[in-house]
Amino acid sequence: MARVEIEKVVKRYGAVEVVHGVSTAIENGEFVVLVGPSGCGKSTLLRMIAGLETISDGNIVIDGEVVNDVAPKERNIAMVFQNYALYPHMTVAENMAFSLKLSRVPKPEMRAKVELAAGILGLDKLLDRYPGQLSGGQRQRVAMGRAIVRDPEVFLFDEPLSNLDAKLRVQMRAEIKALHQRLKTTTIYVTHDQIEAMTMADRIVVMRDGIIEQVGAPLDLYDNPANIFVAGFIGSPAMNFLDGMAEHGVFTGPEGIRIRTSVPDGPVVAGIRPDKVGLGGDGASLEVLMVEPTGAETQVLLKVGGAQLVAQIQGRVSMRAGDRVPVLFGEEAVYYFNRATGERV
Ligand code: ADP
Ligand code: MG
Repeated sequence: MARVEIEKVVKRYGAVEVVHGVSTAIENGEFVVLVGPSGCGKSTLLRMIAGLETISDGNIVIDGEVVNDVAPKERNIAMVFQNYALYPHMTVAENMAFSLKLSRVPKPEMRAKVELAAGILGLDKLLDRYPGQLSGGQRQRVAMGRAIVRDPEVFLFDEPLSNLDAKLRVQMRAEIKALHQRLKTTTIYVTHDQIEAMTMADRIVVMRDGIIEQVGAPLDLYDNPANIFVAGFIGSPAMNFLDGMAEHGVFTGPEGIRIRTSVPDGPVVAGIRPDKVGLGGDGASLEVLMVEPTGAETQVLLKVGGAQLVAQIQGRVSMRAGDRVPVLFGEEAVYYFNRATGERV
């Protein structure tokens, strides 16, 4: 196990800077998820930690040692990619043992490590199969097995579940989490999927455009987003945003929406999670655009000015598109953001 520090790390490709001096630390044994939209620099940062990309500026420190110039295979890190290319002409056991064979690990030790990893991953009965005879989930497990047998100090995962179908993704998510609980190896996991981040992480690092927007435990980010980007990125369905003005203790938004508030006067964006939008009472009346029942709950899309507001209602509703319904916002559940900077007010 190891502690990983990222100190003012910059990445430039030619004249283009794509990672702008990010700093954070991953504690010994922690499961940290780097999450952000496609192109924000997650893979680049992960590959710099692995040593697969050079660092333009700053330091990567593993267990107190600056590893900027240490070769990838000397870093004692194992990486699992989205495109886990298994060798098609090798069996599961041979695929898993491949890196050990390259490092000339003695055969009995190699076999023991492969069997141990296969046991952990439920691959015991598949060791003699070829990749072509496995399902997508089994292949992904073999890819993880290849990482586990090396007994690394740090696991790096780059979107390992993106190629799997939705159901398998949920299952593998739980398996990777269980694997971490068992091995307790420091893990850095990259995904663009905030649900994956929320469900798997001890702590989440939210990135955008080559910077870190916020770091925190999943529910801390959900409850206390530092800015409008994090507020909109974390949580599903996404937080609703209403442009408006705060004046004399009242927020006034589109369609006559009024919410009592204690934020200072000025232009603000009000943010309300869909499950905090209530229907009923004597609030502003909005037009229903669409009703989406999912069984246990119903999403109601409402028209606010030129935008939409999503209400997530427990159970079922009788309203239909075209109806008008009054909406209620619990004032303690409303977040406010500076309209110019996006920072939380
Ligand atoms: P993410 O993994 O978050 O989707 P990446 O780290 O792959 O993002 O990419 C971050 C940015 O760096 C993107 O704008 C991408 O186009 C750019 N980039 C990545 N690799 C290279 C490269 N080898 N040369 C030039 N630009 C690159
Ligand atoms: Mg990527």
